[in-house]
Amino acid sequence: MVEMLVHLDIICRQKVDEYESELFLVPCMIRTKREDNSHIDFDRSIHLAYRFKEEVVPPAILYRFIATFISIWKLRISTKSSRLMIFTDSADVTIDNEHDMRIDIQGNRIIVSLSHKESQNSIVPTIASTAQECLTHAITRISNFYFSVSEDSDCTRDLPFTIQIGIVCGSDLCFFDHMLRSKEEWTCPDHNRIHKTNSVSRWFADKSHTEGDRCLEDCPGLDMAWLDSNPDDRHLGRLAAEMTMEEIRKIYMHLKEKKPARSWEIINESKNKESFDIKIKALHDWKKNTLYASFKQIQQSMKEEDIDIHILCQISREVQKDLDQPKEKLFIRPSGSNLQQLSDHIGYQTYQLGIELGLKVVEMQQIERNHVTNLRSQTEEVLNKWRRHPEATYEVLLKALYRLELSSVLPYITYEEGLAEQAEVISSDDRRRIEHHAGQDDQNKNLIELVNKRGESTYNVFVDALRISGYKDLADELKYDSQEEGSGEALEPQNKGLSEWNVPVYKVRLQKNYSNIVHCINHENIVDHLISFDILTIADSQMINACPAQIQKNRKLMDILLHGSEKGFIEFLKALREDSVTTELADEIESTLVTSRDISTMHGCYK
Ligand SMILES: [Zn+2]
Ligand SMILES: [Zn+2]
Ligand SMILES: [Zn+2]
Repeated sequence: MVEMLVHLDIICRQKVDEYESELFLVPCMIRTKREDNSHIDFDRSIHLAYRFKEEVVPPAILYRFIATFISIWKLRISTKSSRLMIFTDSADVTIDNEHDMRIDIQGNRIIVSLSHKESQNSIVPTIASTAQECLTHAITRISNFYFSVSEDSDCTRDLPFTIQIGIVCGSDLCFFDHMLRSKEEWTCPDHNRIHKTNSVSRWFADKSHTEGDRCLEDCPGLDMAWLDSNPDDRHLGRLAAEMTMEEIRKIYMHLKEKKPARSWEIINESKNKESFDIKIKALHDWKKNTLYASFKQIQQSMKEEDIDIHILCQISREVQKDLDQPKEKLFIRPSGSNLQQLSDHIGYQTYQLGIELGLKVVEMQQIERNHVTNLRSQTEEVLNKWRRHPEATYEVLLKALYRLELSSVLPYITYEEGLAEQAEVISSDDRRRIEHHAGQDDQNKNLIELVNKRGESTYNVFVDALRISGYKDLADELKYDSQEEGSGEALEPQNKGLSEWNVPVYKVRLQKNYSNIVHCINHENIVDHLISFDILTIADSQMINACPAQIQKNRKLMDILLHGSEKGFIEFLKALREDSVTTELADEIESTLVTSRDISTMHGCYK
């Protein structure tokens, strides 16, 4: 009888550490209201919701869902009241030492919040995706049971709920359909705010690796959270790698709507005969021609051709990996020189590597076109492009290489140089503190906080280091972070310039030596030189000479040069060197140090 009630989820066994608990909970009998003013720490959490089509969550589903929830994970005990944290409309569980999860019922939504004890960025993706998978699985099973009207086992019946992603919008959560998650941003239509979606996409991260990369015996294939979604290029790439040319051809015949046989022939005509390229081209061709391309369509076509649908499970999982580097190293962004040798050892798998690293098919086509005959340059460009992605870390790169079965190239990656070391003002102790924090975002935040504390000069050196090492994008990110932090006024002038590097360096050099130049030079010979090299016109010369005093003439000349080309600057220096009096000035101008701060200060003046 007890087992019967358990089976029906009317009562449930509480999850306890080792032994089977004999304590039972009856969710529908719980009467306690949540009183700890139900505050969720948004900085440490990501959110998901199951939204029901009815006005409220159907009670039968709700109680069963709560029962499942607390039988999979361990209920938390309130530190204040020492009572189990289960209430009429909410429950808290512990996943591991670092992650907690909580459900709240609000109207027709079951809201799931997953928190890390430190920060949102530290949430481990496989923990989020596993929790999501388990909950979606449970709620699908419960709904099917509750709404079971037909014997149709094919599961084509509409489920009574949709999955949504919750995102902090102002002081509360707003929700959007999970099918829109492949976009990098989401604009809340109610509040007109733009949100980045990279941290919430953890709910749908690759699943954890399984023994021998096999599915369980009773694996039903991908669940609805995956089936409904739009396959990104990375998944198409994995599919192209896992399936044979013949298999891809067969599913393409089903997937492609217009003249599939003919399109297939055309794809195969392309000059590049690498089989991966043809397969990904076919899959991408289908995706770009389809309004709502989904995994469900791929699965359907595989079923019709008797191809194992668990290939789809396989591409949704992480690879077995044995990353022998310490964790703090793995979360750093590699520099260009760290990857230099790698380019010699990737070869024809460059296309596949680019896709697996998250570059889009279109980007890869452009890279191929840029270096038609030079595979090594293609590899280099792929790695450089990827390195500028916000999530580019050693870990991501190593995982990709493992998936491509390129473990043999790992020794060609170097680690010693990190970003912060290039700015010597940051001590190695500071660096350790920064690396201690898990995610790249966190590292950036810490770095910027540290730099802020050290003051302006540190900031300048740091930003220059970033710029020199080609981290323009990162510099922009940091700028964004520091603005969000509401940092001191000292940072204001630099911030403006970081995103706009369109003031050429030579203009800054002229500007910084302005006073020296206008006081020292004699315009006549210089203007003659510039006219003979087509930099100035006779009209310019007349304009300069129309100014009454020498210093005004010089200012007029400077004004023209500052609004002119770099060629003008070069000829100007040559003219200065023709006169022994101003040779030194020319050297001084040429070797003037230009910092990001100078560029930003200039930006306002010379658009
Ligand atoms: Zn499950
Ligand atoms: Zn909103
Ligand atoms: Zn499977």
